[in-house]
Amino acid sequence: MKSIRELYKIGRGPSSSHTMGPEKACRLFVKENGECDEYKVTLFGSLAATGKGHLTDKVVKETLGEEKTEVIFDGKKTKLPHPNTMYIEGLKKGVSVAKWEVTSVGGGAIKVKGKAEIASPEVYPHGSYEEIKEFCLLNHIKLWQYAEIFEGEGFWDYLSEIWQTMNECVDRGLKASGVLPGGINTQRKAKTLYDQYVLNEKPETRENRIVCSYAYAAAEENAGGGKVVTAPTCGSCGVIPAVFRYLQEKNEVPEKEILKALATAGVIGNLIKTNASISGAECGCQAEVGVACSMASAGVAQLYNMTVDQIEYASEIAIEHHLGLTCDPICGLVQIPCIERNAVAALRALNEVTLAGFLSDSRKISLDMAIKTMYDTGRDISGKYRETSKGGLAKLYN
Ligand code: SF4
Repeated sequence: MKSIRELYKIGRGPSSSHTMGPEKACRLFVKENGECDEYKVTLFGSLAATGKGHLTDKVVKETLGEEKTEVIFDGKKTKLPHPNTMYIEGLKKGVSVAKWEVTSVGGGAIKVKGKAEIASPEVYPHGSYEEIKEFCLLNHIKLWQYAEIFEGEGFWDYLSEIWQTMNECVDRGLKASGVLPGGINTQRKAKTLYDQYVLNEKPETRENRIVCSYAYAAAEENAGGGKVVTAPTCGSCGVIPAVFRYLQEKNEVPEKEILKALATAGVIGNLIKTNASISGAECGCQAEVGVACSMASAGVAQLYNMTVDQIEYASEIAIEHHLGLTCDPICGLVQIPCIERNAVAALRALNEVTLAGFLSDSRKISLDMAIKTMYDTGRDISGKYRETSKGGLAKLYN
């Protein structure tokens, strides 16, 4: 597994795979090949299908140069190494100097064919939760300590920056109002939710309203192209900040404990990213919001000081009950169903942990099994439901 720093990334929304990944690829292309006179960028698969709504063409042109970049949408090519595939070609004086085949594999990470050196190094020696659990039990440590051992210097400072950025994102989202860009007239709702206090409001209603307002705030910031943290992706960036911030305020949790929860959630996200996918284009929304819910559940379980086994159960429940969740964003925008879905997943994360606390001893499904099932299910889902906006809500919405 790679570093958790490769999972939590700070960048601009609305999509880690459709904006952050392509932007990174273009930047690296220029770094390696120098400035070219012309660029031809061809987008395939999901990048072609929803690249307009996700602003892929905009970010590519901004990175390579508006005047000299042609972006071609090729939705016909089917035999692709990954649903998010693109070519970047640079020309000097009309002659091609380099052509890269890039896959944007989720969470802003990319692979470039024939360039293994661009991939980040592996820092964890274990490849399954079973192995990680064994290591933790043998050494009498928690998951956050496991991460600390292999992440090395600067890990806590990095997580502190991540937490600060998540909070700033929620703060901005709670203050904003009006309509999100994209043309479908989606109203921002975070502020309305947050302010909608009613006299004698029941504690559980308040909890629901506040958690949802935080999730909406971050997800709306993402939809508006604001600065977010991938957790694990831009589209699912609202779940973890909503849950952790709510619990921090409610229980007056010190920041150090929140960072331990972030580290714990990071181990789970990393595992799923390694053994399955965090790409909606590859496995549907179960790989984005489903994974965010699983990570959040693990983090909350850590905040409640649960065991390595209970943390496993909490995150497993989240994956298991998001199985088959499709990705069908209306008009290719990361707005409907994405924003509301972040809020619902945040609430589910809080509930899953309670269940895990009660029933952990009698469970039959391991996290590793749920992760493999999620990947197999994702690969079996029709391509219409994997970030192409050709099925589901996206098809019926007019
Ligand atoms: S439906 Fe889910 S996977 Fe698809 S764009 Fe929205 S958040 Fe991402």
